[in-house]
Amino acid sequence: MSMHSWTTRAVHAGKDDLAALGLHAPPIDLSTTYPSYDVVGEATRLDEFAEGHDDGGPPVYGRVANPTVRRFENALAELEGAEAAVAFASGMAALSACLLAQVAAGRPHVVGVRPLYGTTDHLLDSGLLGTSVTWATPEDAASAITARTGLVVVESPANPTLDEVDLRALTDACAPVPVLVDSTFATPVLQRPLEQGATMVLHSATKYLGGHGDVMGGVVACGEDMARSLRQIRFVTGAMLHPMAGYELLRGLATLPVRVRGASATASELARRLADHPRVTRVHYPSIGGAMVSFETSADPVALVSAVRLITPAVSLGSVDSLIQHPASLTHRIMDEVSRKEAGISADLVRLSVGLEDVDDLWADLSQAIVHASR
Ligand SMILES: *Cc1c(COP(=O)(O)O)cnc(C)c1O
Repeated sequence: MSMHSWTTRAVHAGKDDLAALGLHAPPIDLSTTYPSYDVVGEATRLDEFAEGHDDGGPPVYGRVANPTVRRFENALAELEGAEAAVAFASGMAALSACLLAQVAAGRPHVVGVRPLYGTTDHLLDSGLLGTSVTWATPEDAASAITARTGLVVVESPANPTLDEVDLRALTDACAPVPVLVDSTFATPVLQRPLEQGATMVLHSATKYLGGHGDVMGGVVACGEDMARSLRQIRFVTGAMLHPMAGYELLRGLATLPVRVRGASATASELARRLADHPRVTRVHYPSIGGAMVSFETSADPVALVSAVRLITPAVSLGSVDSLIQHPASLTHRIMDEVSRKEAGISADLVRLSVGLEDVDDLWADLSQAIVHASR
């Protein structure tokens, strides 16, 4: 453990060995295979890798591990206060590995706390990977647990309502069943769920960790035992993060604290201005802060989203530039209408991902779009 502050570690984590290597920027290792003249020793190492161990040495093969990706994993683990982190090609690949690990362990039942990211909801509801789900509120999640429950899945702040869950109360109530917290919206800058009893923290690294809308990835921070299961699954499913993406995500971590704090300040000011707007009926903004704002409007939400000019109408979030979308017709369209209503996702809800633009420029664009959509 370092004596430096968390923000300092965000800049330096995963890079502590660079100076001794005579380097400043982390090297990108694009190898798909690694030379070895010790055939027997290498076979033993590959067996160990297949069991999910990672000795930190040459990875034998690029689907097993990668030195550049390991730097990102080590850094993220440190920032979440975890023993380990395992990186994947996307957030959904990371979630799939968590589910497959539970199925393989013979505990395929999942308690899902709604609302969740649209594709997560779809994956659990469809049972495509062999899991079954009981949908629950944070309050009744523990009573939905059965002998076959391998996982409780929760998102806080949740997408797209920004509902917050008392993670400590939930993890206490559900123990000893592992609780997976999708902390994509909060990032480790605003929330560190392992400190509140979570077993696993999942990030769509595509969002804030990368932060520039140009890299896809996912990562799970957890204990070493769980990490071993996840590496095993990653090895056989080929869901490895690309080394180039590992490099970009590690670079993203260094600016994560300033990006999240900067965008949060703008988002909270926009939330305040929206609350005063006559065409806005309700504003959702998390108590922990963050760069996401959702609001319900009496204007036409689809016309509003189409009328922005500086902000981009698009799915995804967490980039340096602001994005807006209408969950009921886009990201959460995959849910049936009743489930959507139960999860609090009204047809009037608009979701805004606030970037690093000037607050007055964003407000000018947003307010002209609201006026346009009110005609
Ligand atoms: C985007 C997102 C995911 C899925 O991640 P991908 O990288 O798109 O696969 C999961 N959870 C949340 C909260 C997200 O925003």
